Amino acid sequence: MGYDVERFVGYVNEGLLCCVCRDVLEDPLQAPCEHAFCSTCIQGWLINHNNCPEDRLPLDITHLRPLFRYMRNDLARLQVRCVFRPQGCEVICSLETIHRHEEQCDYALLNCTNAGGEYLCYHCGCPVQVSRRSLEAHLCVCEFRSRVCASGCGCPLLNSEEAQHNCVSELRAELEVLRAELDCKVEEVRREMESRLDSQRRHMVQKESQLKSEVEELKGQLSRVMSDVRILLSAERTRRQELERAELEKAELLELLKREGLRPSTPTQPAAPTAEVHRKPSPRSLALDCIKRKSREVTVI
Ligand SMILES: [Zn+2]
Ligand SMILES: [Zn+2]
Ligand SMILES: [Zn+2]
Ligand SMILES: [Zn+2]
Ligand SMILES: [Zn+2]
Repeated sequence: MGYDVERFVGYVNEGLLCCVCRDVLEDPLQAPCEHAFCSTCIQGWLINHNNCPEDRLPLDITHLRPLFRYMRNDLARLQVRCVFRPQGCEVICSLETIHRHEEQCDYALLNCTNAGGEYLCYHCGCPVQVSRRSLEAHLCVCEFRSRVCASGCGCPLLNSEEAQHNCVSELRAELEVLRAELDCKVEEVRREMESRLDSQRRHMVQKESQLKSEVEELKGQLSRVMSDVRILLSAERTRRQELERAELEKAELLELLKREGLRPSTPTQPAAPTAEVHRKPSPRSLALDCIKRKSREVTVI
């Protein structure tokens, strides 16, 4: 929407008026047909149309361009009255600078600063609208002004509440709220601890059964090893007994041999041909045979 023509001092060129709202161009854009519009006006028009509102020539939003520079300059130089003139502001300045003025205008209408806020959410805030210059005076009497209690409880108090304010009951209520919050928190912590303990317990039980099965496994392995050892031990014992027996026999044999060796050979027996020796076993070879037989018997036993 454009600026109301009535606010301008002196003549305003027809070309600086919006073809849609017929007010002075605000934030202007220009069509290829050189008709100009406020940007909000033409954007609104093009939602339902696809032509220029002035001459009906085809128009798309992408065809819109900034206004010619000389027209922008003309627009910027127009003299306009402050929008807060009805509130008493007499300021007139160029369209280019009017916004800066209006932002700081003493006659600007403001909402009371007690219109809402942290401590006022339970009450309707102050509905009063005052000019910037009289805000301070209003705040001194504003019903919704809050102030820290003078009796020392620390509560923020509205002017309207001061009469029925009671520090003790106020503090008591606050205490109740705090106590409830604390209970809530304690309960929360307790629940959390319990759930943590529960999960630890579950973990321990799991671990225990795992360890038990491992112990069983080890026990099985141990008994297998033990039986192997027993078998090996008995085998070793048998082997050693055999060795001892063999030792004994060896000693006996040696003894025998020694005794045989010491007996003098019969001188009557002449050195016979070797074939005869084989046929007639000498007493010595007889003894050897006997020993051999004996040792065979031993192995059978
Ligand atoms: Zn317009
Ligand atoms: Zn046009
Ligand atoms: Zn003003
Ligand atoms: Zn107020
Ligand atoms: Zn108090």
